[in-house]
Amino acid sequence: MGGSKMIHGYAGRLLFVDLTSGAISEESPEEGFYRNCIGGTGLGAKILVDRMEPGASPLGPDNVLGFVTGPLTATGVYGGGRFMVTTKSPLTGGWADSNCGGTWGPELKNAGYDGVFFRGVSDHPVCLVIDAGKARLTDAAHLWGKDTYDTDDALQAELGGPGWKVACVGPAGERQSLLAGIVHEKGRIAARSGVGAVMGSKRLKAVAVRAAKGARVSVADKEGLKAVQKDYLEMIKASGFLTGLSAAGTGGSTAFLVSIGDCPTFNWSTTGTDSLPAAGDLDAGKMDTYKLKAYGCHTCPVRCGALVKIPDGPYASQDESHRPEYETLAALGATCGNTTQEAIIRANEICNRYGIDTMSVGSTIAFAMECY
Ligand code: SF4
Repeated sequence: MGGSKMIHGYAGRLLFVDLTSGAISEESPEEGFYRNCIGGTGLGAKILVDRMEPGASPLGPDNVLGFVTGPLTATGVYGGGRFMVTTKSPLTGGWADSNCGGTWGPELKNAGYDGVFFRGVSDHPVCLVIDAGKARLTDAAHLWGKDTYDTDDALQAELGGPGWKVACVGPAGERQSLLAGIVHEKGRIAARSGVGAVMGSKRLKAVAVRAAKGARVSVADKEGLKAVQKDYLEMIKASGFLTGLSAAGTGGSTAFLVSIGDCPTFNWSTTGTDSLPAAGDLDAGKMDTYKLKAYGCHTCPVRCGALVKIPDGPYASQDESHRPEYETLAALGATCGNTTQEAIIRANEICNRYGIDTMSVGSTIAFAMECY
């Protein structure tokens, strides 16, 4: 792999970090590699298949953990703000890909890398810092044990200056909980498949990235892309579904989904409004009382997220937090038979701080409630 010419839509470089030795290296794949392995999942799968022995333990040094972007990342294409975490799952023993929104993926691409892959295990906690195409490992012993909010704040203060994007594990990942995810912007989380446990097993606390000012990935036909984007923007504005998403997020129709049997109640034992008459309280639109502002991933006009804060009471927020998504409302709410939205907002904040998947936590609690 090496010596490729730059192709549009990609930075053209992959970063490899051996956490056992501390060695950092770069490779520039041929154009054919990119064409054959499209997207974060494609690139991640190819690297894992080529470079990981069958039978590698998911929480051992031979597992490969990738943070990978796709050809649309950072191009301005709507939805192109997301990135993929790929690895061998400690939860299933199989393939893991966990998707995350926010702004981290575009920052990585604009910082000069299409993906960064880790193998090995560090003998002490470390962070990888990628600053405008240059990467270094830094000591993170003082961050170990901190939750994801405090880790993000501490790194922003230490690294200084604007523009840093942080993806990190909290205590759940450090302790290798199989439900642990990797958290970005204190609430965007690559939550599924136990990817946070893999990061914690490598003693990798965080990856902080910052692109050079004005750095942008190249696009082959900028004017053509603008024209397509313009058409899509009109479609988005005219779409009742997408304007609903903008207003209330993915959780705006939770009660409806309970009513049609799409959203389970009481540990999947029942569904339907009769099983949970107060399901209407779970609709995210009802959280507007606590809404501080709308939130969106990189260049996404839908902006389906929001930041919320409960000022006081038994479920008072520690800080502002992301409004629970539909899956969180379903897992920590309907599946547990819980319709107290304040409790779900607070539980969501706690899970995000610990860096643990709300869907798995809610499902586990619901299972325990039925058992005991
Ligand atoms: S803001 Fe919402 S719709 Fe837009 S990319 Fe992020 S999660 Fe998707």
